[in-house]
Amino acid sequence: MPNKRQQTHSDFRTRRLAAYNPAIAILYAKLDMKAAKPVFAIRYALRPAKPEAHLYEVSCRIEHPDPAGQRLALPAWIPGSYLIRDFARHIVSISAEAGGAPVALTRIDKHTWQAAATNGKQALTLNYTVYAWDLSVRGAHLDPTHAFFNGTSVFLRVVGQEEAPCLIDLQPPKGKPYSGWRVATALTPAHKEKQAAEPHGFGLYAAASYDELIDHPVEMGTFTLTSFTACGVPHEIAITGRHDCTDNALKRLTADLKKICEWQIRFFGEPAPMKKYVFLVTTVGEGYGGLEHRASTALLCSRDDLPYAGMTGLPERYRTFLGLCSHEYFHTWNVKRIKPAAFTPYNLDRENYTTLLWAFEGFTSYYDDLALLRSGVISEKDWLELTAKTIDNVLRAPGRLKQSLADSSFDAWSKYYRPDENTPNAVVSYYAKGALVALALDLTLRAGTAGRRSGHISLDEVMRALWQRHGQTGLGVGDDDIRKVAEALSGLRLKRFFNEAVNGTRDLPLEKLLKPFGITLRREAASNTPSLGVKTVTDGSDLKLSVVYADGAAQHAGLSAGDVLVAIDGIRITPASFERQLGRHRAGDTVELLAFRRDELMRFSVSLTAAATDTTQLKTGAAGNALRKQWLGKS
Ligand code: ZN
Repeated sequence: MPNKRQQTHSDFRTRRLAAYNPAIAILYAKLDMKAAKPVFAIRYALRPAKPEAHLYEVSCRIEHPDPAGQRLALPAWIPGSYLIRDFARHIVSISAEAGGAPVALTRIDKHTWQAAATNGKQALTLNYTVYAWDLSVRGAHLDPTHAFFNGTSVFLRVVGQEEAPCLIDLQPPKGKPYSGWRVATALTPAHKEKQAAEPHGFGLYAAASYDELIDHPVEMGTFTLTSFTACGVPHEIAITGRHDCTDNALKRLTADLKKICEWQIRFFGEPAPMKKYVFLVTTVGEGYGGLEHRASTALLCSRDDLPYAGMTGLPERYRTFLGLCSHEYFHTWNVKRIKPAAFTPYNLDRENYTTLLWAFEGFTSYYDDLALLRSGVISEKDWLELTAKTIDNVLRAPGRLKQSLADSSFDAWSKYYRPDENTPNAVVSYYAKGALVALALDLTLRAGTAGRRSGHISLDEVMRALWQRHGQTGLGVGDDDIRKVAEALSGLRLKRFFNEAVNGTRDLPLEKLLKPFGITLRREAASNTPSLGVKTVTDGSDLKLSVVYADGAAQHAGLSAGDVLVAIDGIRITPASFERQLGRHRAGDTVELLAFRRDELMRFSVSLTAAATDTTQLKTGAAGNALRKQWLGKS
């Protein structure tokens, strides 16, 4: 839910809209007369009609349709996931009626319909069926065990009335097997309506605008539910899918999340911008993903990532899950409210290009782990380990030398979100390198302002300033705004830093930057095994090349991604034996590799190179280093 100030802002925009839409103007005149009860010009009803067939039935009633012919559209993408997904392809049937008579619908493009002109005095109702069989955080899913949807998959946008408040009637599936189903969502019950939903119940919910409507995913079913408060804000965790995170394990999860959420709310400053927050967790055998929303997040994880009875310490899988929760929660501020100018507002019909994803995903990636450390959930040793891994992820991909962060952000739609075998050679991750830029900027600011009588400046102050200037005002962040804020706060000149870090492709001088904080960075080879310059995957009993790194031994010899390695110097290769076989050689040796490309056997003469020094060690030296304590200490 938006905070009070944002509601006012949204209300203002609605009234501005009323100035040129007479139907809405009348509506708001009524609203002013009876200020106690809002009038809803749009009403959706959604029912998981055939769970076994994965079909939702949805209706959308528009009180004041455009008399010239109302347009309706489904988004082409979902904010937070930068790929065109064409959700409208899952609408399997659609019809319209007004006053009991059918109204013709014409297709305008792959996601837009136009209803025939009506007299405008009668409400127009669309009835449609949506196929939902995408078990991801981005789409909609329905079967007899549960229902999950994002509004972008199921709610048609009433073109021209995006700012109108709407009602949502969530209905349960029919039949006894579904009598125990409940609802988990951060949508607000329509309190003033007769059929307002009870907590976790079916019934009426309300949204102030279409933007708000599609930013609240909904889970229905028999999920595990637990709650906690963070800085006075009620939080819920709803876990769907088979799992064993109950009793004490669930308490552990709740306690850890509470620490993380409280730290983040205090980091940006109370009060929190949401009235309620919901973690919607779906567990599967193997899976990982998260999508941020203004008052909730949809998460997909392996059931083994969650705490379990008898768990001790902090297993790596659980640490990763907490990092995911922390990441999506930080987005509540950084990208859901502090937004790139290109997202204010979103254009839901097409790609929204921004060169700033490194700041919204990268800075969020930096703070997700830092929040775990500063809230006391992980140790400094854990944090150094995680940071070393991020450094390795960046430095192992030759694409970092080809693509800048600004370009990686801009091209997210066609490159980062559409990876192929060449991605490591051509693309830099705006998550991983963006996190390193945050680290480098934080260290630069801290070292450059240390010892000032007025106090030092860090990236923390920059984030808080961005929150005040952009998050709380709704003003989009421009390409140069982060630099300007950082310079204004610190008095440092940062043009060169940003130019090299964001527009350049040179590696960041992390070793030098970490030194004053008592941390030494060393890069070493993980083993003595000479390098082939590839990444492999096991495919049944085959060993397949998944990546052939630019300028590595394998690429020089002519091997390609997709090749299946068969023999080395006349001896058969198996997935289990390959490392050992390679390990019996030295750098400079030439070996003969046999490989299948498709069904053709090919021979390659490969000159092995020295093992890459691709593994980072971060060690703390001077114990009690004051700068480090100030930075990484519990706060
Ligand atoms: Zn993210």
